[in-house]
Amino acid sequence: MTTNVTTVPAYAAPAANAPLERTTVPRRAVGEHDVLIEIKYAGICHSDIHQARDGWGEGIFPMVPGHEIAGFVAEVGSGVTKFRVGDRVGVGCFVDSCRECAYCLQGLEQYCSGTGMTGTYNALDKNGEPTYGGYSTHIVVDENYTLRIPEGIDLDEAAPLLCAGITLYSPLAHWQAGPGKKVAIVGLGGLGHMGVKIAHALGAEVTVLSQSLKKQEDGLKLGADHYYATSDPETFTKLAGTFDLIISTVSAPLDFGAYLSLVKTDGALVNVGAPEEPVALNLFSLIGGRKTLAGSMIGGIAETQEMLDFCAEHGLGAEIEVIGAEQINEAYERVIASDVRYRFVIDTSTI
Ligand code: NAP
Ligand code: ZN
Repeated sequence: MTTNVTTVPAYAAPAANAPLERTTVPRRAVGEHDVLIEIKYAGICHSDIHQARDGWGEGIFPMVPGHEIAGFVAEVGSGVTKFRVGDRVGVGCFVDSCRECAYCLQGLEQYCSGTGMTGTYNALDKNGEPTYGGYSTHIVVDENYTLRIPEGIDLDEAAPLLCAGITLYSPLAHWQAGPGKKVAIVGLGGLGHMGVKIAHALGAEVTVLSQSLKKQEDGLKLGADHYYATSDPETFTKLAGTFDLIISTVSAPLDFGAYLSLVKTDGALVNVGAPEEPVALNLFSLIGGRKTLAGSMIGGIAETQEMLDFCAEHGLGAEIEVIGAEQINEAYERVIASDVRYRFVIDTSTI
């Protein structure tokens, strides 16, 4: 690759609900502060599916999903100071933000109030051109929005950390999961399994709340202390008022009232799932017990680096199934059917 090459192979959804297919997309020339990344692996997040099927609306098509990117630096701009050719790097859910607002200045770029964060795909870049994500062989990203992947984690197992890892690390850190805290993770999928690993590594007592007991053995191996099926109504009577913190990773609308009944007085239910429909809530489930219902979205650049370093230190990577690009559409169906153990990762050499 040279700075002049601007077209790269990719897998795209040509329109909402259309199967993904091979195509090419433009990449901007490497600017002064840019790095050209040779992508090796791209994770499949449930958010890719919501967006490729336009479940959240206003999708930009053709769409190249992928915001769990891991690879090597192939070229650096003249002003780049943080990276060198050959470095192991990652890119998560956003590739830019205003850099000036109070949130950007605090390292909360994901909540940028200036321009808003620029999504890695399904967004418009500052030059007005659509951004295209990681289901591709190369991407050009500003060095300030590029992460360093520590040596301790293989690139394929590191890719999902860039979204699934940080989306659980950030609320676990913010709500102070740790020794003496009872934490429940709802949904043992891509996000949920990283939540179990990270909460366990932070020293919390971890419970998985899954639809069934099918994945119980895995859940306990990943670091959970307890595992319950939410299809069993007894789970909700048995665990009433148990948890300091519950994080829901469920991709579909959920009965939050039922889960709030499992939270202790002054505890919190934090939702990170992004279902396509609204949910109803009886507010009595909050006022009796001074409970918090909150949300959380990914994490900032500095916190994402902190998470990668934490995972390397604790030997945490994602549990993955590596697939070829031609299996993406089938993998989407399996994720929707909760048949993923626990993240599909695309080997981009097959694109
Ligand atoms: P995933 O791998 O599909 O995991 C979701 C899990 O939720 C499933 O494995 C399943 O776990 C459970 N589940 C699915 N349907 C359910 C239902 N109808 N009722 C109860 N439980 C159900 O998805 P993911 O990639 O982890 O993403 C999860 C959600 O988070 C998606 O909506 C995604 O868009 C969103 N997300 C948000 C952020 C953020 O920053 N807030 C970041 C990334 C993704 P069990 O089989 O164990 O029940
Ligand atoms: Zn994601």
